[in-house]
Amino acid sequence: MILFDTHAHFDAFADRAECQAALERAEAAGVRRILAVGGSPESNRAALKAAAEWPGRVFAAAGYDRDLAVSSPSLLELEAMLERPGVVALGEMGLDYHYHPDTVPAQRDLFASQLELARRRRLPVVVHSREADRDTLDLLREHVSAWRGDPRRIGVLHCFTGTAEFAKRLLDLGLMISFSGILTFPTRRRDPLREVARAVPADRLLIETDTPFLAPVPHRGKPNEPAWVVPVAETLAKIRDDTLVRIAHSTTANAETLFLGSRKDMP
Ligand SMILES: [Zn+2]
Repeated sequence: MILFDTHAHFDAFADRAECQAALERAEAAGVRRILAVGGSPESNRAALKAAAEWPGRVFAAAGYDRDLAVSSPSLLELEAMLERPGVVALGEMGLDYHYHPDTVPAQRDLFASQLELARRRRLPVVVHSREADRDTLDLLREHVSAWRGDPRRIGVLHCFTGTAEFAKRLLDLGLMISFSGILTFPTRRRDPLREVARAVPADRLLIETDTPFLAPVPHRGKPNEPAWVVPVAETLAKIRDDTLVRIAHSTTANAETLFLGSRKDMP
C-alpha cells in the first residue's frame, strides 16, 4: 500500500533532522509520496529544498497564497522556482475572504496571474478557497476554458470543506478534490462534508494532511505530519464503504496523474 500526502508545509519542521524523522515515520506508515506545498516565502523555500533532497519521495509546489496579495510578490521569481528539481505544481494559491476581506481585489489579481502562469507552463494548481466560492469558480472557469494541457492535470481544491454544490461545480470544471483531517473530526450523524466525500468520483479524490495544521483524530492538538494522512484515508474508506487498500490505490494514482503526469522519475 502506497499513500500520497498531497499537501504538507515543510517549513513546519525545525531542521533537517526533524524533517528526516517525519519522513521515516511517513515511510513506515506507507506514505511514500508527499507534495511539499509552498505559498509563503518560507514554505516555498522549504518545499524546494525538500524536493531537491528527497527526489521521488518529496515533490514541490511553489506559489503565493492570499496572505501575500498586498505585497505584490515577483512572478518572475516564481517562474524561476518552477525550474528547480522536483517542482511539479503551482501553489498554494487562491482566495480567503474569511481572514482577509479587506484585500479581495488584490487576492483575485494574484490568483489570476498565477493561473495564467500555470496555463503557460501547463502545470497543475493547488487551490485554497474560503468563503470565496463564487469568485474561485469564476476564475477557475476562465482558467479551464483557456487550458491547453492535459484535462486530468488542471488542479485540486485542497482541504475541501465546502458544499455539495461547490464540489459539483469544481468536478464539472475537471478539478480534483482533496480531503484533510477535518473529515475525521467528530460530527453529528448526517455531516454534509461526509456526504460530499461519499459522492466524489473515485478518480477525482485526493488526501492530504495540511501539515502542520489540522491533525486528525486521534492526534488532535499536536502538530500534524505526513504519516497521519493514514487516518484520513481510513475515514474515507469507512465513509465510502470501501477498503483502505483501494482508497490508497485510487488516491495515489490520482495524485500521480495530477502532479506527475508522464514523469515517472520515481524510485
Ligand atoms: Zn496549505
